[in-house]
Amino acid sequence: MRRYACPNCSNEVHFRNSECVNCHSRLGYVPAWDQMFYAAQDDIKWHDGATAYKACANRQLISCNWLIEDEDPEDYCRSCRHTLMIPDLSAPENCDHWAALEEAKRRLFYSLEKFRLDVGDLAEQPDTALRFEFKADMLSADGKTKRVLTGHANGLVTINVAEADDPTREKYRKAMGEPYRTLIGHFRHEVGHYYWDHLVFNTPKLDAYRAIFGDEREDYGEALKRHYDQGAPNGWEANYVSSYACAHSWEDFAETWAHYFHIVDGLETAGWYGLDGHTPDTGLNRTPGGWSDAGPYGAAEFEPLMQAWVPLTVAMNAMNRSIGLGDFYPFVLSDTIFAKLEFIHGLIHDRR
Ligand SMILES: [Zn+2]
Ligand SMILES: [Zn+2]
Ligand SMILES: [Zn+2]
Repeated sequence: MRRYACPNCSNEVHFRNSECVNCHSRLGYVPAWDQMFYAAQDDIKWHDGATAYKACANRQLISCNWLIEDEDPEDYCRSCRHTLMIPDLSAPENCDHWAALEEAKRRLFYSLEKFRLDVGDLAEQPDTALRFEFKADMLSADGKTKRVLTGHANGLVTINVAEADDPTREKYRKAMGEPYRTLIGHFRHEVGHYYWDHLVFNTPKLDAYRAIFGDEREDYGEALKRHYDQGAPNGWEANYVSSYACAHSWEDFAETWAHYFHIVDGLETAGWYGLDGHTPDTGLNRTPGGWSDAGPYGAAEFEPLMQAWVPLTVAMNAMNRSIGLGDFYPFVLSDTIFAKLEFIHGLIHDRR
């Protein structure tokens, strides 16, 4: 994620901010320009030369700070419009959970935009475009809880809103032995399944995919059952980014896909703060040196990404230890995992 400055007073502002804490301008983000715009308190629109922008219809309710061109007939921003179902807002906690989910989803869309990955057209491909539903567990008439499973099917990503509740997610994280369990991680993982359908299945890449990630034709239900019964095999760390990646070829792909997003976005952030060994240009609105103009998201070569990433993670782990925290990056990347990440890098960049 890059850094942003308030266009009115140059104070640093963050991707999620809808108001500058320094000058109190109303901020709005335009994804097509990857820029923050500001409006005075009494102006309901944002302006960029002759172009006017309006707020996403979710701005008041969940603080979505994304803008839409004023003449666009859409009421919702590029991210919010892909959400087809939200939880029942009469339950008081659900609005906060939904807001947290959308905030993580905007970060996902930021990355998809930077990778120029197509999300599908909701009007023309209503059954296959990337869609999201955020649902809560329901109590049935017989007193049993009907659990919502987080997952993906044919472009539709379902997320259980309980994942947005920090104590609940932390409980699952510990129970599943996961070093990371985050909302952004869920989004990055689930869209990995969507892009597998579009970039791997029925393409010339399928054979190379199977050589690296194994055969996805293995029975999925059986494979998951085996994973939950027996756990990951001993020594899984040498070949997989997570224990869950051992469950099935598709899960290995989605876990590695998410990990690739972590690396590239992490490197972009590091670059903007001068932490990646490159000296950043002055001013927050310019791309730091060391990468092409598009930054790590636009890096054509895979090797330089890893050459920058590995020493950064060693330094960040040392930083965390020096203030008594657990490791920032508790992973060891083997050659096998490098090959998986490189395959995903190729999938994203070869289509450009
Ligand atoms: Zn300001
Ligand atoms: Zn929005
Ligand atoms: Zn999955």
